[in-house]
Amino acid sequence: MSIEKGSEIVIAGTGIAAAATALRLVSLGFLPRLISIQRAIMPGVEAIPEAAFPLIRELGLDRAVALAGGKIVEGFENAWIRSDPVLLPGRWLHIERSVFASAAIQEAVARGVEISMVRRLPSVPADCFAAVDATGRSAAWSRPIHRQGNQVADLFEIPAAAAERGRIERTPDRWMYRIGSTLGVVSTRSRPSHGPPGARYLGRRPAFPQWCEDPVRGRRIAVGDAAFAYDPLAGHGIRFALASAFAAASVIQTWSEKSDTAPASRFYRDFVNQARIRHLEFLDKLELDQPPAPPQPLPEKVRFSGRRGTAELSIESRIVTSDAVLFADQTAVRWLGGVDLLEFEHLARKPVTSAALLGHLHSLGVSGARARSIMSWCLRRGVLEAIAINTNTP
Ligand SMILES: Cc1cc2nc3c(=O)[nH]c(=O)nc-3n(C[C@H](O)[C@H](O)[C@H](O)COP(=O)(O)OP(=O)(O)OC[C@H]3O[C@@H](n4cnc5c(N)ncnc54)[C@H](O)[C@@H]3O)c2cc1C
Repeated sequence: MSIEKGSEIVIAGTGIAAAATALRLVSLGFLPRLISIQRAIMPGVEAIPEAAFPLIRELGLDRAVALAGGKIVEGFENAWIRSDPVLLPGRWLHIERSVFASAAIQEAVARGVEISMVRRLPSVPADCFAAVDATGRSAAWSRPIHRQGNQVADLFEIPAAAAERGRIERTPDRWMYRIGSTLGVVSTRSRPSHGPPGARYLGRRPAFPQWCEDPVRGRRIAVGDAAFAYDPLAGHGIRFALASAFAAASVIQTWSEKSDTAPASRFYRDFVNQARIRHLEFLDKLELDQPPAPPQPLPEKVRFSGRRGTAELSIESRIVTSDAVLFADQTAVRWLGGVDLLEFEHLARKPVTSAALLGHLHSLGVSGARARSIMSWCLRRGVLEAIAINTNTP
């Protein structure tokens, strides 16, 4: 590794994005230093979607999950449109986020990461090799920031069976979610909302989408909420904190090996911007009251219809130019939920049954609901196309 002696990697913050970046960097052979201002993270149970499970496993956070009371729950009740509630398929990990973050930090410390306690965060150290901003919505090293709307969440602790499904529902002027023993009431009210009888008020969190103008500038890179904070409605904040930690660590590894840092930086900027664009489009659709499309049955036969090309990708923890599926909106995707989309090109060059492709995904360890949602995504984005069945054929 060609990092000059005396220069180091510093990570500001001690939340889940900071812990994940530190753990990932350690596994790549770096020894970053965390800077903590010892500000407590507000408690609350949150739901992590199944797409993030492989990232948690790869970081070796099983113990942290157990300490944070992690429970896998099948399905999530979505009553956003009250007259038409839907049960979202798939699995969610319900977890106490502040305990999860501190247990993940302990894991990083156990693997050799040092923490410097400071009263105030210094400005980005001039002589460090890379500076990671993991200060959540403070985005202390990544100003300026932008936001959409001004909604806040009032959080309550309520008595609840731990293995109950999560649920969201909407009223005319606010929406609510319940995950395990946490109830969140999300509104634009200036005064805290009232909780149900017996509820204990935990506090208020900003809940509007927010992003920093430039997620990577020079050798400063923002991860987690500091880069892009989702509307909690999406339930993707922790998954993004983990995914951005993996991507940022690959970028830092590439910076350490290549004199031209621009392609890796460009990869990261695109990665964050694409997440933001997709999420804001999703919110626009909700605003227009378009109900989420009900799951469509898969066609009997499909064929690969994606466009192959090259793009900057993160492969084996390095940013390299490699083959991917290219889309009209300039994005490129190679892996979706751990599945190599180019395998579909090989498997479905000629029409194949959806059942055969589902069987292939199952053989890779992808669960039934997730395999179907990967196939549906491929059909929506034109990676696969349905083949009309000739009913006259005997
Ligand atoms: C109401 C609500 C519900 C949510 N529910 C879900 C859910 O169900 N599922 C899900 O996946 N996501 C959910 N999220 C999003 C999720 O909580 C966040 O995306 C995730 O916790 C972000 O982690 P982080 O490490 O980036 O930031 P944080 O957890 O905010 O950590 C930031 C760290 O930086 C430190 N820090 C802050 N300011 C400074 C400073 N100036 N100097 C130095 N250090 C500083 C803090 O002390 C902390 O250690 C929800 C969000 C909200 C608001």
